[in-house]
Amino acid sequence: LTGRLVLAVDIGGTKLAAATVDGDGAIRRRAQRPTPAGDDVVVWAAVAALLGDVAGGDRLHAVGIGSAGPVHLDSGEVSPVNITAWRRFPLVARVRALFPDRPVVLAGDGICMALGEHRSGAGRGVDDVLGVVVSTGVGGGLILGGRVHHGPSGNAGHVGHLVVDPDGPPCPCGGRGCVEAIASGPSLLAWAVEQGWSPARGALSDVPSLAGDAGGGHDVALAAFARAGRALGVAVTTVAATVDIRRAVVGGGVANVGDLLLAPARAAVAEHARLPFLDGLEIVPAALGGDAGLLGAAALALDAVS
Ligand SMILES: [Zn+2]
Repeated sequence: LTGRLVLAVDIGGTKLAAATVDGDGAIRRRAQRPTPAGDDVVVWAAVAALLGDVAGGDRLHAVGIGSAGPVHLDSGEVSPVNITAWRRFPLVARVRALFPDRPVVLAGDGICMALGEHRSGAGRGVDDVLGVVVSTGVGGGLILGGRVHHGPSGNAGHVGHLVVDPDGPPCPCGGRGCVEAIASGPSLLAWAVEQGWSPARGALSDVPSLAGDAGGGHDVALAAFARAGRALGVAVTTVAATVDIRRAVVGGGVANVGDLLLAPARAAVAEHARLPFLDGLEIVPAALGGDAGLLGAAALALDAVS
């Protein structure tokens, strides 16, 4: 299997990444570029150029794609919320045209993160895992019984749109009170600013500077992470009670703040996960950093040719 080389692709609203990965799950060659603004043609041109750079002359056995969602698994199309130029964009067909006669498999980026962490990160050795990505948005994916759970449309496990506060703030999805509307980076910052927080002179209004202020004891900054972590913990508890899992792996740029977010999330689990079958439900930080999605996409591709 080691000799089998696959191409993994990670399509996000901020960046596009690709890598060749061998049968042991090791990245051989990689590249990334910002997701361009522009129409569908411009965005696709960037993806195609990236794939050309990474694939080089290597003989590739399959391609695995993790894309920001929603995805349309039946048709191989994607409509990423944060790539507005792509609505029902035929991503699988376009990639297949570049790599004819090889399997091309697609999954949501949250599912790929969960699979990557399950195979070689913080979910290793655990058959039932929820992966959550807290970043510009909030996504996720489920591994159940050791297998990826895509759901009929390919969007199962999209925990960002679990409603944790029915009267909460509007969400980019059109709903209200979703985890994403409270815990995503932009939501966190918007709430903190509304409550009177502003970055120190010369600092950016971003999650790291909010985290820095929280570390220094700033009340509003601390409250912002407490609120976001609580939303996350309630969502994890809900999923655990629904599908009987004991471990949630949390990654993404916002989760890099660590216990500022995870401690209130664990407190929410302690408060709400009370039935005996939920004993031991744990929230752990992701281990693979930004590579989880790529490695999960590679695992899908490797599974397709093994
Ligand atoms: Zn939503």
